[in-house]
Amino acid sequence: MERKGEPTFRESVDLMFNRAVKLMDLSPGLEQKIRVCNSTYTVRFGVRLRGKIETFTGYRSVHSEHMEPVKGGIRYALSVNQDEVEALAALMTYKCALVETPFGGSKGGLCIDPRAWEEDELEQITRRFAYELIKRDLIHPAQNVPAPDMGTGEREMAWIADQYMRMNTTDINGRACVTGKPPHAGGIQGRVEATGRGVQYALREFFRQSEDKAKAGLSGGLDGKRIVVQGLGNVGYHAAKFLSEEDGCKITAVIERDGALVDDKGLNIEDIRQWMVKHGGSIKGYPQATLVEDGASLLEAECDILIPAAMEGVIHRENAPRIKAPLIIEAANGPITFGGDEILRQKGCVIIPDMYANAGGVTVSYFEWVKNLSHIRFGRMQRRAEESRHQMLVDELERLSADKGLGWTLSPGFKDKYLRGAGELELVRSGLDDTMRTAYQAMREVWHSRGDVDDLRTAAYIVSIGRVSLAYQSKGL
Ligand code: NAD
Repeated sequence: MERKGEPTFRESVDLMFNRAVKLMDLSPGLEQKIRVCNSTYTVRFGVRLRGKIETFTGYRSVHSEHMEPVKGGIRYALSVNQDEVEALAALMTYKCALVETPFGGSKGGLCIDPRAWEEDELEQITRRFAYELIKRDLIHPAQNVPAPDMGTGEREMAWIADQYMRMNTTDINGRACVTGKPPHAGGIQGRVEATGRGVQYALREFFRQSEDKAKAGLSGGLDGKRIVVQGLGNVGYHAAKFLSEEDGCKITAVIERDGALVDDKGLNIEDIRQWMVKHGGSIKGYPQATLVEDGASLLEAECDILIPAAMEGVIHRENAPRIKAPLIIEAANGPITFGGDEILRQKGCVIIPDMYANAGGVTVSYFEWVKNLSHIRFGRMQRRAEESRHQMLVDELERLSADKGLGWTLSPGFKDKYLRGAGELELVRSGLDDTMRTAYQAMREVWHSRGDVDDLRTAAYIVSIGRVSLAYQSKGL
């Protein structure tokens, strides 16, 4: 979304990149090489629908191939354009480097309103778009691996995977050509929730650091923290659900495209989501909360944490001075413009940047890709072996207690939990948690150790650009 007097999304990303690069010592020319987008392919294709030929425009942009395959979602929205796709591809490069997934950055998009088409029509359109990208190796397990983004999900990824396999019948790794597939079609447990789950793990890690909380003027744990969420789609719904159901946070407002729901006592996220599913994605008429027509005004509400999880450019130079949240976690890509970011930083607002905050999706996509290439579900070999070792320990404790007359009893629930070996979902969550904690520490180290870095975004860019530059240097650039 372009705003008058503000840089475009792509320019915003470049300006943030420039701010970080000024503080680094990169070899001449390398800075430019990392910043530029390597290539963007535009395709216009026709599909016969409802008795006439409809022409669609799509993009696949490759920002950096310092590692391959390159990785990045495919977005379906009417607003998709080359500038946006290139900005998102650049963010993917930095994101993958920050969370150490071995990918370069890419992104795709199709100018379409997915709600305007029936399921069978969307399948025809998706397969045709996929065909155009597959025949140019812009979808390929070793070269370019898409995933879901705004407007797409498991269903579209399954169609893309099937289309690739129809066109490459002897490629044994064909399923690894795309991630975010449903589990029955080569997906992995925990992928749908992964980005929202990553937001939860990121906040948990932030709240473990007293010094960082203090910078935002916050204290204590997540319990009772008041949160405003924008966008109750895949990312926003899961983040809000987990934070309210598992961490005791209160979601005081949900901002959607047709208004905002507000309740100071805390909203029931699952209930709202069910309402939206039944009412064509609308929050209107939901009986348990107050509806505010001007939804975006709630971005400026009093709260402890603001989670923009809808789209880019929603916090900008005009509304940034009125934002009251001391902590913003960017679950969406690019929700704060460069101008908005400057104002918020001057106000002392702490921003957990998108390239870190929403990296849960690409992290679990990485696990799915590895699963597809290894052709085996995680945990299948170890789970029962782990359970029998645990059983041995429990048996031994119980024997000791009985033999020595100690009268020990294991606390209720412990035995069941301890004896259960880790299945795929537990392993995915453990890998995601580890990734989010490790990446946060890498950013934080730069944030706190350098006198010239006063925000997490610049710190994140410095870590990522440093890693990408090392990859280029070892290729001889
Ligand atoms: P989605 O399509 O599932 O959900 C987007 C939600 O935002 C929808 O409920 C929509 O109604 C709402 N929305 C749209 N415009 C709005 C507006 N102007 N105001 C308020 N709400 C609005 O999309 P998603 O997959 O959840 O993606 C959301 C953001 O997260 C995007 O920026 C995307 O790039 C980013 N992201 C997604 C993933 C993923 O795994 N899906 C991973 C990383 C980043």
